[in-house]
Amino acid sequence: MNDHQRNGIGMTSQRTRNRLVKRLRDNGIKDETVLDVIAQTPRHLFVDEALSHRAYEDTALPIGNGQTISQPYIVARMTETLLAAGPLEKVLEIGTGSGYQTAVLSPLVKKVYSVERIEPLQKRAAQRLRELGYRNLSLKLSDGSWGWPEYGPFDGIIAAAAPEQVPDSLLQQLADGGRLIMPVGGAEQKLVLITRHGEHFSRKTLESVKFVPFLPGVQN
Ligand code: SAH
Repeated sequence: MNDHQRNGIGMTSQRTRNRLVKRLRDNGIKDETVLDVIAQTPRHLFVDEALSHRAYEDTALPIGNGQTISQPYIVARMTETLLAAGPLEKVLEIGTGSGYQTAVLSPLVKKVYSVERIEPLQKRAAQRLRELGYRNLSLKLSDGSWGWPEYGPFDGIIAAAAPEQVPDSLLQQLADGGRLIMPVGGAEQKLVLITRHGEHFSRKTLESVKFVPFLPGVQN
């Protein structure tokens, strides 16, 4: 990876990225640290080259295997919400996908644990993140409904796929005071923020969203 590829030109240039950040700010994203990270993250390298000219539009884009890279607004909103109560050390991400959300979390927290259930996507994301120099990550092919108990409890849990209900295993792997944000529902989905207070979990419903379904098992 040379600087030219990383920094982008034309439709992937810093100017194009700054336009996206302005749009996110206009749409209500307030955390400037999160916006800075979005401005610095080369989203064009997380999609197919044929789509790279659209990488700084505020839309989800296909990444193969019927999945999508999340919309920048949603990545920003979920990251901002996850971090709103203060800095986080260990974060579990479910649905690595392209690795874009993982890359955005990387500079903002101490360590990211990210799982993906589709093997080709998982491999591609792991290679891409390694080549781009992200180091504070542990990635694996796994069904996120099991969480990652060896490394829990987590201060934050974030998912990019919507189950009908928040899996109990994830609640169990949330640290006391920890925050979980994920889409929940079927045809109608809402972002849900859960905070753990000992054995009590407080739940807040945020905006309507449209994510891919949270599916069981791994796929090779
Ligand atoms: N944040 C990613 C989003 C990818 S789409 C990005 O911006 O690229 C959501 C991903 O969740 C898909 O890749 C899908 O395969 C994955 N997924 C769905 N259910 C899952 C599960 N139970 N465990 C792990 N990953 C899952």
